[in-house]
Amino acid sequence: MSTRVLSLLGYTFGLLILTLYTYAIFPLRLSDPVRFYFLLAIIFIPLLGYLVFRFRKKRKEAEALRQPFPDQWRAELEATVPYYQKLSSEEKKRFEQAIKGFLHSTTITGINTEVDESTRLWVATSAVIPIFGFKDWRYRNLNEVLIYPSAFKSDNYAQEGPGRHALGMVGTGPMSGKMILSKPALVNGFVRAGDGRNTGIHEFAHLLDASDGEYDGIPHLLDQQYVLPWLGLMHREMKRIQRGESKLRPYGATNKAEFFAVASEFFFERPDELQLHYPKLYDLLEKVFQQDLRRQFSPAILRKRKQ
Ligand SMILES: [Zn+2]
Repeated sequence: MSTRVLSLLGYTFGLLILTLYTYAIFPLRLSDPVRFYFLLAIIFIPLLGYLVFRFRKKRKEAEALRQPFPDQWRAELEATVPYYQKLSSEEKKRFEQAIKGFLHSTTITGINTEVDESTRLWVATSAVIPIFGFKDWRYRNLNEVLIYPSAFKSDNYAQEGPGRHALGMVGTGPMSGKMILSKPALVNGFVRAGDGRNTGIHEFAHLLDASDGEYDGIPHLLDQQYVLPWLGLMHREMKRIQRGESKLRPYGATNKAEFFAVASEFFFERPDELQLHYPKLYDLLEKVFQQDLRRQFSPAILRKRKQ
C-alpha cells in the first residue's frame, strides 16, 4: 500500500474518531457547558498544534525545494556520477529536487571530521539513487547520518586502534534512525565509479530493505509474486559466492540482508555486467527498484550481448 493511501486512511480514521467524540460529548453542551468546552479543548487544542506544526514543516520544505541547485554540485554530478549523466534533462531536475528534499529532512553530522558540501552531496546521491524509481518515497527510518573520518569498529564504533573494518552501518536499538558512513569509503564509492562497490548505496539499500521493519534481504516494495523467486535466487547466488564463482564480493554471502545490499551496489554500479552474467538477478533487481538501467550499459557490453 502506498504511503499516500496510508496517510489518507489515517486522516479519514482520525476524522471519524473526532466526529464520534464530538457527537458523544455534544449533549453536555446545554447541561454542563464548562465540561463540554473543556472536553472539546482537550482534543482540539493538540489537533490545532499538530496542524500548525505540519503546515510549518511543509512550508519550510517547499522553501528549501525552491532554492536553486548549486552549480558546483551539478558539475560534480556530471563529472563523477554515470547514473546522473545518463538521466534525461527532466529526470536530472527531479533528481536534484530529491537531493534537496533529502538534505532538508536529514541531519548530516561530522564526528571528528569536517562535513563539506561535497560530502553532503555524496550522502544525498547515495540516498536518492536507490529510491529514484519510487514516487514521493522517503526514508522514514532515518533522521541523521554520522560521518566518521575512517573505518570504525562495528561493536563499539571506535575510530582508532586495531580491528576497524566497518565502512558503514545502520541498525536497530541505539542505531535506530541513524546511519554511520566512513568519509573515505563514501567518497570512493563515487570517485571510483564502476568498480561494483559503493558504501553509501549499500547502506541505503539496507534502509530500503528495513522499511518494513526487518533487515531480511526482502524489500517489501517487491511485488508478492516475486518474493519466492527472489528467495530462491538469493540462496543460489549466495552459494556461488561461497564457492568463489561469483563476481559479487564475498561479503554478500554473510546473510540475506548483506546479499541484497551487495547485489544492489553492483546493480547500480555495473548494471551492464550484472545483466550480462546474472540476467535473472538483474531482472529481479529491476523489479525491486522499479528502475530500468539499460541506458547505463556500456557500448562494449552491448556489443558482447549481441554476439
Ligand atoms: Zn551491509
